[in-house]
Amino acid sequence: MTHVDPYFRKLTGNYLFSEISRQVAQFQAIHPEKRLIRLGIGDVTRPLPAAVVEAMTAAAAEQGTPAGFHGYGPEQGYPFLREAIALHDYQDRGIHVDPDEIFVSDGAKSDCGGICDLFAVGNTVTLCDPVYSVYLDTNVMAGRAGEFDPATGRWSGLLYLPCTAENDFVPAPPAEQADLIYLCFPANPTGAAANRAQLQAWVDYANRHDSILLFDGAYEAFVTTPGVPRSIFELPGARTCAIEFRSFSKTAGFTGTRCAYTVIPRELEREGVSLRRLWARRQATKTNGVCYVVQRGAQAVYTPAGRAQVAENLAYYRRNAQTLRAGLTQAGLTVYGGVDSPYLWVKTPKKQTSQDFFRLLLEEAGVVTTPGSGFGPHGEGYIRLTSFGEAGETQEAAARIAALL
Ligand code: PLP
Repeated sequence: MTHVDPYFRKLTGNYLFSEISRQVAQFQAIHPEKRLIRLGIGDVTRPLPAAVVEAMTAAAAEQGTPAGFHGYGPEQGYPFLREAIALHDYQDRGIHVDPDEIFVSDGAKSDCGGICDLFAVGNTVTLCDPVYSVYLDTNVMAGRAGEFDPATGRWSGLLYLPCTAENDFVPAPPAEQADLIYLCFPANPTGAAANRAQLQAWVDYANRHDSILLFDGAYEAFVTTPGVPRSIFELPGARTCAIEFRSFSKTAGFTGTRCAYTVIPRELEREGVSLRRLWARRQATKTNGVCYVVQRGAQAVYTPAGRAQVAENLAYYRRNAQTLRAGLTQAGLTVYGGVDSPYLWVKTPKKQTSQDFFRLLLEEAGVVTTPGSGFGPHGEGYIRLTSFGEAGETQEAAARIAALL
């Protein structure tokens, strides 16, 4: 008799998101004439920068020659890419990160999901509410959560940090002991960016409590406000308590190409064990690294041409965010995020539920959003919009919503 993993079995389907797709598909089937504008999912729409395509084309050609062929690469990533990352994303900005502290991977999702392999089951997992569900679900799979309570929408055994308008969607460290602390700033879904003092409080807390900060910087490239940290390693003390996840997905349009990296400082140890070594061991066991062609493409992100093209794409999405912010604010909505982030977190008017407002925008404006309640109980009363759409459609979406309200 084969037994299925009991923790995996605890995970129910993400009913809300499958329910949303179902509702959108059903609506479209009844109203095929309506042109829906989709600002719900967080995928990019701008094509890859030309410098990336050129580098990948050249690398693919290399792979077809005896002299240029690359088989299995180093599990941690090619030195050419790790050196470019260390130099441009950290050292040039005055942040101490060495190439051998960088682990290249196929996605921040894989790394955020895999990192909990390093830690014992008894650790208290601490999550923002609302949250990017990967942190939650992977810990449920790993047996770190108790039972789900449908009445509260929460799992027992986890520590939740409410992110509300009152705390500007950036929670302060808790009074109790938190061991594994997932932080994502700029945040998905709220679009909030944490300032230096807020992040320093977390770093100090983690060092005092022997906790680990698992810092997801997937959206760091969207930070424009002076003084807002783009890396947890800008904060003194972070090298002894933090792991950082970064991705080329939203920065350089790699959602379908797949490349990301994780930084684990040499100093980071718990119980005398180097977490960097542990992760190296884990990666060497569970992956054979990222495609050579893709790593050459990621390297091209750091060339002068690549940087200029990436900057153009980021500016495009920022303009979308501004369009949405201005349009929705003018329509009388309370809008958060969209400044240092591609996400806008919009309060539903007249105390409507997330689901009702989502439905109204779908049916009356033909705009697809994401109900905030899908990200956790404190997401209720909000919807999320993304600025990753096409510019004309984004303008039209803002106009349609304004006309409706
Ligand atoms: N982290 C956050 C907060 C995200 O929102 C996403 C994707 O939407 C990811 C990580 C995944 O990034 P990647 O495409 O590198 O797997």
